[in-house]
Amino acid sequence: MIRFSRLRQILLCSLAIVTILTAGGIAYYYATLYTVDEAQEGYLALTGATVLAGEGLEPRHSTTILIRDGRIVEVGDDGDVEVPSRAKVLDLSGYTLMPGLIDLHVHMGPSDPVFEEEGVGGILATSKLVIDWARFYPGTRRAFLENGVTTVRDLGNEYVWIMELRRQLQDGSLEGPRLFAAGPIFTTQGGHPVATFGVDPASDSVRLPSTPEDARRAVREVASGENRVDLIKVVQERGGPGRSLEPIAPAVLDAIVAEAHEHDLPVTAHWGTLDDLKDVLAAEVDGLEHIESRGVLDGWPEDILDLLVEEEVPLSPTLAVTDAVLPPQVASKLRQRAGEFHSAGGRIVLGTDAPINGLPFGASVHRELELLVNGALTPQEALRAATSDAAGVLRTDRIGAVEAGRAADLVVVVGDPLRDIRDAKNVVMVFRDGRTVVDRRSVGQIS
Ligand SMILES: [Zn+2]
Repeated sequence: MIRFSRLRQILLCSLAIVTILTAGGIAYYYATLYTVDEAQEGYLALTGATVLAGEGLEPRHSTTILIRDGRIVEVGDDGDVEVPSRAKVLDLSGYTLMPGLIDLHVHMGPSDPVFEEEGVGGILATSKLVIDWARFYPGTRRAFLENGVTTVRDLGNEYVWIMELRRQLQDGSLEGPRLFAAGPIFTTQGGHPVATFGVDPASDSVRLPSTPEDARRAVREVASGENRVDLIKVVQERGGPGRSLEPIAPAVLDAIVAEAHEHDLPVTAHWGTLDDLKDVLAAEVDGLEHIESRGVLDGWPEDILDLLVEEEVPLSPTLAVTDAVLPPQVASKLRQRAGEFHSAGGRIVLGTDAPINGLPFGASVHRELELLVNGALTPQEALRAATSDAAGVLRTDRIGAVEAGRAADLVVVVGDPLRDIRDAKNVVMVFRDGRTVVDRRSVGQIS
Protein backbone atom coordinates (compact mmCIF):
# COMPACT_ATOMS: atom_id res chain seq x y z
CA MET A 1 0.00 0.00 0.00
CA ILE A 2 2.78 2.34 0.90
CA ARG A 3 4.53 1.62 -2.40
CA PHE A 4 1.32 2.21 -4.34
CA SER A 5 0.69 5.63 -2.83
CA ARG A 6 4.33 6.54 -3.44
CA LEU A 7 3.93 5.60 -7.10
CA ARG A 8 0.77 7.65 -7.30
CA GLN A 9 2.62 10.59 -5.81
CA ILE A 10 5.38 10.32 -8.40
CA LEU A 11 2.86 10.04 -11.23
CA LEU A 12 0.89 13.06 -10.02
CA CYS A 13 4.05 15.02 -9.56
CA SER A 14 5.28 14.15 -13.08
CA LEU A 15 1.90 15.04 -14.53
CA ALA A 16 2.03 18.41 -12.77
CA ILE A 17 5.52 19.09 -14.15
CA VAL A 18 4.50 18.12 -17.69
CA THR A 19 1.40 20.31 -17.44
CA ILE A 20 3.37 23.28 -16.17
CA LEU A 21 6.03 22.84 -18.90
CA THR A 22 3.40 22.51 -21.63
CA ALA A 23 1.45 25.51 -20.40
CA GLY A 24 4.71 27.45 -20.12
CA GLY A 25 5.68 26.39 -23.61
CA ILE A 26 2.34 27.44 -25.05
CA ALA A 27 2.43 30.74 -23.15
CA TYR A 28 5.97 31.39 -24.42
CA TYR A 29 4.92 30.48 -27.96
CA TYR A 30 2.10 33.03 -28.00
CA ALA A 31 3.96 35.68 -26.02
CA THR A 32 6.75 35.68 -28.60
CA LEU A 33 4.66 35.06 -31.72
CA TYR A 34 4.40 38.82 -32.28
CA THR A 35 0.73 39.28 -33.01
CA VAL A 36 -1.28 42.44 -33.57
CA ASP A 37 -2.33 44.06 -30.28
CA GLU A 38 -5.37 45.82 -31.59
CA ALA A 39 -6.31 47.77 -34.69
CA GLN A 40 -6.30 51.56 -34.52
CA GLU A 41 -9.92 52.63 -34.33
CA GLY A 42 -11.50 56.06 -34.24
CA TYR A 43 -9.54 59.29 -34.55
CA LEU A 44 -5.86 59.80 -33.82
CA ALA A 45 -4.20 63.20 -34.29
CA LEU A 46 -0.42 63.56 -34.51
CA THR A 47 0.46 67.20 -33.99
CA GLY A 48 3.43 69.53 -33.97
CA ALA A 49 5.93 67.51 -36.01
CA THR A 50 7.84 68.51 -39.11
CA VAL A 51 6.24 66.26 -41.70
CA LEU A 52 7.89 65.11 -44.93
CA ALA A 53 4.63 65.39 -46.81
CA GLY A 54 3.27 64.14 -50.11
CA GLU A 55 5.09 62.07 -52.72
CA GLY A 56 7.82 64.69 -52.93
CA LEU A 57 8.61 64.55 -49.18
CA GLU A 58 8.47 68.32 -48.86
CA PRO A 59 9.03 69.40 -45.25
CA ARG A 60 6.03 71.03 -43.54
CA HIS A 61 6.60 72.46 -40.09
CA SER A 62 4.09 72.37 -37.20
CA THR A 63 1.82 69.98 -39.01
CA THR A 64 -1.13 67.88 -37.89
CA ILE A 65 -1.94 64.48 -39.34
CA LEU A 66 -5.46 63.29 -38.65
CA ILE A 67 -5.90 59.52 -38.83
CA ARG A 68 -9.09 57.53 -38.72
CA ASP A 69 -9.29 53.72 -38.55
CA GLY A 70 -5.72 53.31 -39.74
CA ARG A 71 -5.94 55.74 -42.64
CA ILE A 72 -4.79 59.35 -43.04
CA VAL A 73 -7.80 61.60 -43.52
CA GLU A 74 -6.17 65.03 -43.40
CA VAL A 75 -2.76 66.71 -43.33
CA GLY A 76 -2.61 70.42 -42.51
CA ASP A 77 -1.14 73.17 -40.35
CA ASP A 78 -1.52 72.79 -36.60
CA GLY A 79 -4.70 74.62 -35.68
CA ASP A 80 -6.12 74.44 -39.21
CA VAL A 81 -7.04 70.77 -39.00
CA GLU A 82 -10.25 70.28 -37.09
CA VAL A 83 -9.47 67.59 -34.53
CA PRO A 84 -12.65 65.88 -33.22
CA SER A 85 -12.94 66.18 -29.42
CA ARG A 86 -12.97 62.41 -29.00
CA ALA A 87 -9.69 62.02 -30.91
CA LYS A 88 -6.59 60.75 -29.19
CA VAL A 89 -3.94 63.46 -29.58
CA LEU A 90 -0.21 62.89 -29.60
CA ASP A 91 2.12 65.90 -29.49
CA LEU A 92 5.18 65.13 -31.61
CA SER A 93 6.71 68.63 -31.55
CA GLY A 94 10.44 68.55 -32.17
CA TYR A 95 10.34 65.33 -34.17
CA THR A 96 10.38 64.67 -37.90
CA LEU A 97 7.65 62.43 -39.30
CA MET A 98 7.94 60.61 -42.59
CA PRO A 99 6.21 57.79 -44.47
CA GLY A 100 7.10 54.20 -43.51
CA LEU A 101 10.07 52.88 -45.46
CA ILE A 102 9.80 50.21 -48.17
CA ASP A 103 12.43 47.55 -48.91
CA LEU A 104 11.77 46.22 -52.41
CA HIS A 105 14.17 43.29 -52.18
CA VAL A 106 14.21 40.89 -49.26
CA HIS A 107 13.97 37.17 -48.65
CA MET A 108 12.01 36.63 -45.44
CA GLY A 109 13.90 34.22 -43.20
CA PRO A 110 15.58 33.95 -39.81
CA SER A 111 16.87 37.21 -38.37
CA ASP A 112 19.95 35.64 -36.77
CA PRO A 113 22.79 34.31 -38.87
CA VAL A 114 22.37 30.55 -39.22
CA PHE A 115 25.39 28.60 -38.03
CA GLU A 116 25.87 25.11 -39.36
CA GLU A 117 26.87 23.36 -36.17
CA GLU A 118 27.08 19.70 -35.54
CA GLY A 119 26.00 17.70 -32.50
CA VAL A 120 23.64 18.88 -29.78
CA GLY A 121 24.14 22.57 -30.61
CA GLY A 122 23.28 21.80 -34.21
CA ILE A 123 20.11 19.94 -33.25
CA LEU A 124 19.03 22.82 -31.00
CA ALA A 125 19.78 25.37 -33.70
CA THR A 126 17.86 23.33 -36.26
CA SER A 127 14.87 22.91 -33.93
CA LYS A 128 14.81 26.64 -33.26
CA LEU A 129 14.93 27.29 -36.98
CA VAL A 130 12.02 24.94 -37.69
CA ILE A 131 9.93 26.48 -34.89
CA ASP A 132 10.75 30.00 -36.10
CA TRP A 133 9.85 29.01 -39.65
CA ALA A 134 6.46 27.77 -38.45
CA ARG A 135 5.99 31.07 -36.57
CA PHE A 136 6.95 33.15 -39.62
CA TYR A 137 10.09 34.54 -37.98
CA PRO A 138 8.79 36.95 -35.33
CA GLY A 139 12.31 38.42 -34.88
CA THR A 140 12.49 39.31 -38.57
CA ARG A 141 9.05 40.92 -38.62
CA ARG A 142 9.98 42.93 -35.54
CA ALA A 143 13.37 43.99 -36.95
CA PHE A 144 11.71 45.60 -39.97
CA LEU A 145 9.23 47.61 -37.91
CA GLU A 146 11.85 48.67 -35.36
CA ASN A 147 13.84 50.18 -38.21
CA GLY A 148 10.85 52.02 -39.65
CA VAL A 149 10.38 49.57 -42.53
CA THR A 150 6.61 49.10 -42.85
CA THR A 151 6.48 47.38 -46.25
CA VAL A 152 8.70 44.74 -47.83
CA ARG A 153 8.72 42.94 -51.16
CA ASP A 154 9.94 39.35 -50.98
CA LEU A 155 11.72 38.36 -54.21
CA GLY A 156 11.94 34.62 -53.86
CA ASN A 157 10.79 32.21 -51.19
CA GLU A 158 8.76 29.04 -50.64
CA TYR A 159 5.57 29.82 -52.52
CA VAL A 160 2.88 28.38 -50.23
CA TRP A 161 4.70 29.51 -47.07
CA ILE A 162 5.17 33.12 -48.16
CA MET A 163 1.55 33.36 -49.35
CA GLU A 164 0.39 32.14 -45.93
CA LEU A 165 2.57 34.76 -44.24
CA ARG A 166 1.12 37.43 -46.52
CA ARG A 167 -2.40 36.29 -45.61
CA GLN A 168 -1.71 36.39 -41.87
CA LEU A 169 -0.14 39.85 -42.12
CA GLN A 170 -3.11 41.06 -44.16
CA ASP A 171 -5.88 39.70 -41.96
CA GLY A 172 -4.27 41.08 -38.80
CA SER A 173 -3.23 37.78 -37.22
CA LEU A 174 0.47 38.59 -37.24
CA GLU A 175 2.31 41.87 -36.64
CA GLY A 176 4.93 42.92 -39.15
CA PRO A 177 5.51 44.88 -42.32
CA ARG A 178 3.07 44.85 -45.23
CA LEU A 179 4.21 42.10 -47.56
CA PHE A 180 4.30 41.90 -51.36
CA ALA A 181 5.71 38.64 -52.66
CA ALA A 182 6.97 37.08 -55.88
CA GLY A 183 6.73 33.53 -54.57
CA PRO A 184 9.07 31.18 -56.44
CA ILE A 185 12.02 32.41 -58.51
CA PHE A 186 11.89 31.61 -62.23
CA THR A 187 15.30 30.33 -63.33
CA THR A 188 17.05 27.32 -64.83
CA GLN A 189 18.43 24.07 -63.48
CA GLY A 190 21.97 25.38 -64.03
CA GLY A 191 21.21 28.92 -62.89
CA HIS A 192 21.09 31.02 -59.74
CA PRO A 193 20.02 30.12 -57.03
CA VAL A 194 19.97 26.40 -57.96
CA ALA A 195 23.56 26.11 -59.19
CA THR A 196 24.92 28.83 -56.88
CA PHE A 197 23.17 28.38 -53.51
CA GLY A 198 22.28 24.72 -54.02
CA VAL A 199 18.51 25.29 -53.87
CA ASP A 200 16.72 21.99 -54.54
CA PRO A 201 15.29 22.11 -58.11
CA ALA A 202 12.15 20.39 -56.78
CA SER A 203 11.65 22.98 -54.03
CA ASP A 204 8.63 25.26 -53.85
CA SER A 205 10.90 28.29 -54.01
CA VAL A 206 11.94 27.89 -57.67
CA ARG A 207 10.32 27.17 -61.03
CA LEU A 208 12.52 25.83 -63.82
CA PRO A 209 10.45 25.90 -67.03
CA SER A 210 12.26 24.43 -70.01
CA THR A 211 9.78 25.25 -72.77
CA PRO A 212 7.53 28.25 -73.46
CA GLU A 213 4.48 26.08 -72.67
CA ASP A 214 6.01 25.05 -69.33
CA ALA A 215 6.74 28.67 -68.59
CA ARG A 216 3.20 29.84 -69.30
CA ARG A 217 1.73 27.05 -67.21
CA ALA A 218 4.06 27.78 -64.28
CA VAL A 219 3.15 31.49 -64.34
CA ARG A 220 -0.57 30.71 -64.62
CA GLU A 221 -0.37 28.48 -61.57
CA VAL A 222 0.80 31.31 -59.33
CA ALA A 223 -1.27 34.04 -60.97
CA SER A 224 -4.74 33.32 -59.67
CA GLY A 225 -6.76 32.45 -56.59
CA GLU A 226 -5.99 33.60 -53.08
CA ASN A 227 -2.35 32.61 -53.56
CA ARG A 228 -1.95 34.99 -56.50
CA VAL A 229 1.56 36.44 -56.32
CA ASP A 230 2.16 40.20 -56.53
CA LEU A 231 4.79 39.91 -59.26
CA ILE A 232 7.10 37.46 -61.03
CA LYS A 233 10.86 37.36 -60.39
CA VAL A 234 13.17 35.99 -63.07
CA VAL A 235 16.90 35.32 -62.84
CA GLN A 236 18.84 35.79 -66.08
CA GLU A 237 22.46 35.19 -65.38
CA ARG A 238 25.40 33.77 -67.32
CA GLY A 239 27.72 33.81 -64.33
CA GLY A 240 31.16 35.36 -64.24
CA PRO A 241 34.83 34.49 -64.49
CA GLY A 242 35.40 30.96 -63.21
CA ARG A 243 31.75 30.02 -63.16
CA SER A 244 29.37 29.96 -66.08
CA LEU A 245 25.68 29.60 -65.40
CA GLU A 246 22.91 28.57 -67.73
CA PRO A 247 20.56 31.47 -68.55
CA ILE A 248 16.90 31.07 -69.52
CA ALA A 249 16.37 30.53 -73.27
CA PRO A 250 15.00 33.69 -74.95
CA ALA A 251 11.73 32.01 -76.02
CA VAL A 252 11.12 30.78 -72.46
CA LEU A 253 11.95 34.19 -70.99
CA ASP A 254 9.55 35.83 -73.45
CA ALA A 255 6.82 33.37 -72.47
CA ILE A 256 7.28 34.03 -68.74
CA VAL A 257 7.01 37.79 -69.17
CA ALA A 258 4.16 37.65 -71.70
CA GLU A 259 2.09 35.32 -69.54
CA ALA A 260 2.74 37.45 -66.44
CA HIS A 261 1.62 40.55 -68.31
CA GLU A 262 -1.54 38.76 -69.48
CA HIS A 263 -2.31 38.27 -65.80
CA ASP A 264 -1.45 41.89 -65.03
CA LEU A 265 1.62 40.91 -63.02
CA PRO A 266 4.85 42.93 -63.30
CA VAL A 267 8.14 41.09 -63.77
CA THR A 268 11.41 42.07 -62.15
CA ALA A 269 14.73 40.61 -63.25
CA HIS A 270 17.96 39.68 -61.52
CA TRP A 271 20.71 40.21 -64.10
CA GLY A 272 24.49 39.97 -64.06
CA THR A 273 26.20 40.74 -67.35
CA LEU A 274 25.24 43.16 -70.12
CA ASP A 275 24.09 40.21 -72.25
CA ASP A 276 21.74 39.21 -69.43
CA LEU A 277 20.47 42.78 -69.31
CA LYS A 278 19.87 42.81 -73.08
CA ASP A 279 17.90 39.55 -72.77
CA VAL A 280 15.58 40.80 -70.07
CA LEU A 281 15.05 44.15 -71.79
CA ALA A 282 14.17 42.34 -75.03
CA ALA A 283 11.60 40.35 -73.06
CA GLU A 284 10.23 43.67 -71.71
CA VAL A 285 10.56 43.12 -67.98
CA ASP A 286 9.24 45.87 -65.70
CA GLY A 287 12.12 46.26 -63.27
CA LEU A 288 15.76 45.41 -62.57
CA GLU A 289 17.50 44.07 -59.49
CA HIS A 290 21.18 44.65 -58.66
CA ILE A 291 24.03 46.31 -60.45
CA GLU A 292 27.11 44.17 -60.62
CA SER A 293 30.71 44.60 -61.64
CA ARG A 294 30.32 41.97 -64.39
CA GLY A 295 27.80 44.27 -66.05
CA VAL A 296 28.72 47.91 -65.82
CA LEU A 297 32.00 48.23 -63.92
CA ASP A 298 33.51 49.99 -66.95
CA GLY A 299 30.48 52.19 -67.50
CA TRP A 300 26.99 52.13 -68.99
CA PRO A 301 26.73 51.58 -72.74
CA GLU A 302 25.00 54.73 -73.92
CA ASP A 303 22.26 53.01 -75.92
CA ILE A 304 21.28 50.82 -72.96
CA LEU A 305 21.25 53.72 -70.53
CA ASP A 306 19.08 55.73 -72.93
CA LEU A 307 16.66 52.84 -73.29
CA LEU A 308 16.36 52.33 -69.52
CA VAL A 309 15.67 56.01 -68.98
CA GLU A 310 13.23 56.27 -71.88
CA GLU A 311 11.29 53.17 -70.84
CA GLU A 312 11.42 54.27 -67.18
CA VAL A 313 12.58 50.82 -66.08
CA PRO A 314 13.15 51.08 -62.32
CA LEU A 315 16.48 49.84 -61.00
CA SER A 316 17.01 48.66 -57.46
CA PRO A 317 20.82 48.63 -57.34
CA THR A 318 21.04 46.75 -53.98
CA LEU A 319 24.33 48.45 -53.15
CA ALA A 320 24.35 47.19 -49.55
CA VAL A 321 24.54 43.53 -50.54
CA THR A 322 27.49 44.03 -52.89
CA ASP A 323 29.21 46.57 -50.66
CA ALA A 324 29.34 43.89 -47.96
CA VAL A 325 31.62 41.62 -50.01
CA LEU A 326 33.32 43.64 -52.75
CA PRO A 327 36.70 45.36 -52.55
CA PRO A 328 36.04 49.03 -51.63
CA GLN A 329 37.18 50.44 -54.99
CA VAL A 330 34.82 48.15 -56.89
CA ALA A 331 31.90 48.90 -54.55
CA SER A 332 32.53 52.61 -54.94
CA LYS A 333 32.53 52.26 -58.78
CA LEU A 334 29.12 50.55 -58.58
CA ARG A 335 27.75 53.37 -56.44
CA GLN A 336 29.04 55.75 -59.08
CA ARG A 337 27.18 53.75 -61.78
CA ALA A 338 23.98 53.97 -59.76
CA GLY A 339 24.55 57.73 -59.53
CA GLU A 340 25.08 57.97 -63.31
CA PHE A 341 21.87 56.05 -63.94
CA HIS A 342 20.06 58.49 -61.66
CA SER A 343 21.69 61.59 -63.18
CA ALA A 344 20.68 60.41 -66.65
CA GLY A 345 17.07 60.46 -65.46
CA GLY A 346 16.72 56.80 -64.50
CA ARG A 347 14.39 55.64 -61.72
CA ILE A 348 16.32 54.35 -58.71
CA VAL A 349 14.35 52.49 -56.06
CA LEU A 350 15.49 50.96 -52.81
CA GLY A 351 16.09 47.27 -52.20
CA THR A 352 18.66 45.53 -50.02
CA ASP A 353 18.56 41.76 -50.69
CA ALA A 354 18.68 41.09 -46.92
CA PRO A 355 19.66 38.65 -45.48
CA ILE A 356 22.07 37.72 -48.30
CA ASN A 357 25.74 38.27 -47.38
CA GLY A 358 24.69 38.65 -43.74
CA LEU A 359 22.69 41.86 -44.25
CA PRO A 360 20.44 42.49 -41.24
CA PHE A 361 16.73 42.94 -41.90
CA GLY A 362 15.54 46.52 -41.53
CA ALA A 363 18.86 48.10 -40.58
CA SER A 364 20.15 47.39 -44.11
CA VAL A 365 17.61 49.83 -45.50
CA HIS A 366 19.46 52.60 -43.66
CA ARG A 367 22.77 51.33 -45.02
CA GLU A 368 21.32 51.35 -48.54
CA LEU A 369 20.03 54.91 -48.05
CA GLU A 370 23.52 56.02 -47.05
CA LEU A 371 25.08 54.29 -50.05
CA LEU A 372 22.56 55.87 -52.42
CA VAL A 373 23.39 59.30 -51.02
CA ASN A 374 27.06 58.46 -51.37
CA GLY A 375 26.32 57.55 -55.00
CA ALA A 376 25.04 61.11 -55.63
CA LEU A 377 21.34 61.04 -54.76
CA THR A 378 20.20 63.80 -52.42
CA PRO A 379 18.82 62.55 -49.08
CA GLN A 380 15.35 63.54 -50.30
CA GLU A 381 15.77 61.52 -53.53
CA ALA A 382 17.08 58.53 -51.58
CA LEU A 383 14.08 58.68 -49.24
CA ARG A 384 11.74 58.87 -52.22
CA ALA A 385 13.42 55.73 -53.59
CA ALA A 386 12.36 54.07 -50.32
CA THR A 387 8.83 55.54 -50.14
CA SER A 388 6.75 57.06 -52.94
CA ASP A 389 8.86 55.76 -55.83
CA ALA A 390 8.95 52.29 -54.29
CA ALA A 391 5.16 52.40 -53.90
CA GLY A 392 4.98 53.21 -57.61
CA VAL A 393 6.91 50.04 -58.38
CA LEU A 394 4.47 48.14 -56.16
CA ARG A 395 1.68 49.74 -58.21
CA THR A 396 -0.12 51.04 -55.16
CA ASP A 397 -1.11 54.52 -53.99
CA ARG A 398 -2.20 53.22 -50.59
CA ILE A 399 1.25 53.65 -49.04
CA GLY A 400 4.50 55.55 -49.56
CA ALA A 401 3.44 59.11 -48.70
CA VAL A 402 1.97 61.18 -45.90
CA GLU A 403 -1.21 62.41 -47.54
CA ALA A 404 -4.95 62.01 -47.19
CA GLY A 405 -6.25 58.64 -48.36
CA ARG A 406 -3.08 56.67 -47.65
CA ALA A 407 -2.55 54.12 -44.92
CA ALA A 408 -1.07 55.57 -41.72
CA ASP A 409 2.27 53.75 -42.03
CA LEU A 410 4.50 56.38 -40.43
CA VAL A 411 7.93 56.80 -38.89
CA VAL A 412 8.88 59.42 -36.30
CA VAL A 413 12.59 60.26 -36.06
CA VAL A 414 14.89 62.62 -34.20
CA GLY A 415 16.77 65.04 -36.43
CA ASP A 416 16.45 66.02 -40.07
CA PRO A 417 16.95 63.17 -42.57
CA LEU A 418 16.77 65.65 -45.46
CA ARG A 419 19.96 67.24 -44.13
CA ASP A 420 21.67 64.07 -42.92
CA ILE A 421 20.28 60.77 -44.19
CA ARG A 422 21.69 58.99 -41.13
CA ASP A 423 19.00 60.72 -39.05
CA ALA A 424 16.46 58.37 -40.68
CA LYS A 425 17.92 55.72 -38.35
CA ASN A 426 16.91 57.63 -35.20
CA VAL A 427 13.53 55.90 -35.05
CA VAL A 428 11.43 56.96 -32.06
CA MET A 429 7.97 55.78 -33.08
CA VAL A 430 6.51 53.65 -35.84
CA PHE A 431 2.86 53.41 -36.85
CA ARG A 432 1.51 50.61 -39.02
CA ASP A 433 -2.04 51.23 -40.23
CA GLY A 434 -2.23 53.81 -37.42
CA ARG A 435 -1.40 51.43 -34.60
CA THR A 436 1.72 52.11 -32.54
CA VAL A 437 4.19 49.29 -33.16
CA VAL A 438 7.31 51.03 -31.84
CA ASP A 439 7.41 53.68 -29.11
CA ARG A 440 10.76 54.67 -27.63
CA ARG A 441 9.79 58.15 -26.41
CA SER A 442 10.05 57.21 -22.76
CA VAL A 443 13.11 55.03 -23.08
CA GLY A 444 15.38 58.02 -23.37
CA GLN A 445 17.91 56.18 -25.52
CA ILE A 446 17.41 58.77 -28.22
CA SER A 447 17.50 62.47 -27.58
ZN1 LIG B 1 17.55 38.46 -53.82
